[in-house]
Amino acid sequence: MYKFGVIGPGAVGSVIGESLQNSGYHVTFIGRKEGDVCIERVDKPENTTFPVEAIFEVDTVFDYLFITVKGTQLEGIMPYLDKLTHESTVCILCQNGYGQLDKFQIPGDVYQAVVYISGQKKGNVVTHFRDRILILPENTVTKKLTEVVAATNLDIQLRANYQNEIWYKLIVNVAINSVTALSRNTALILQEEKVQNLCKKLIQEGVEIAAAEGVYFQEKITEEIMQIYAGYPSQMGTSMYYDMINDQAMEVDYIQGFLYAKSKEHDLDTPCLDTVYSLLLASEMKG
Ligand code: NDP
Repeated sequence: MYKFGVIGPGAVGSVIGESLQNSGYHVTFIGRKEGDVCIERVDKPENTTFPVEAIFEVDTVFDYLFITVKGTQLEGIMPYLDKLTHESTVCILCQNGYGQLDKFQIPGDVYQAVVYISGQKKGNVVTHFRDRILILPENTVTKKLTEVVAATNLDIQLRANYQNEIWYKLIVNVAINSVTALSRNTALILQEEKVQNLCKKLIQEGVEIAAAEGVYFQEKITEEIMQIYAGYPSQMGTSMYYDMINDQAMEVDYIQGFLYAKSKEHDLDTPCLDTVYSLLLASEMKG
């Protein structure tokens, strides 16, 4: 029987672990320290609690390892990867942004999933709002993974045009995360036309950078993404907004920072991105 590990028992990791555990798979929830994590759903009375083991104490070697810490927390788990993996362990990095895979130096395969699991962790309680979708590039390793987890309700989708999925999510994230974090305000701000216009410009700059990287979107993507934003409840925050108001590290490096680096590499003119990226960096500076 395959051994599954989930490093980072937060909103995304706990839901993945739950899917595996509920279908009888052998899964270890691996956190910073020993404890437990409880998953709740707004419309369902029953909660489920899973034990969490401390990463420095786990001595299991896993066949499949889901890495679900935030991009800003990646450095903290790197020293443990050697002991948790063998030469054909498959690691699935479940994070927003792009460019993180360059950090991995382990013998097995590492793929980044585009994550559509919506949830939030407070204390040791994860509220799961919706979805259990992970999108991965299509190859023999990921095909086998889908077969291995076929009995679970984890919806792993394989895509030949995976790069489009990565870039689409990056572009969705860059506008809404930047404006909510910098204004320290929720999706409510989309009611202001000037904020809508800024979002549209950020989306268009993202589309331009994607095109320079050989990933093309149709013009209607801007309206499509604005429609997605329009569907957000006005009190909804984004992950960067919550990190900003809670004074926690934001995943700027792999979203705005990644796009900024690509923009410079291709010598593009992206004034809105350059501005929001500079201000986000400035907001994290400490004396
Ligand atoms: P969370 O903060 O909910 O979860 C991260 C978990 O990792 C926490 O439980 C944290 O522990 C744990 N962790 C941190 N450092 C370590 C370490 N060194 N060893 C072991 N565990 C550690 O984040 P999310 O699940 O929300 O986000 C994960 C990724 O998924 C991010 O890239 C995010 O952008 C992306 N994403 C999130 C979505 C969402 O709806 N939440 C939607 C789509 C993508 P502790 O609790 O102690 O801090």
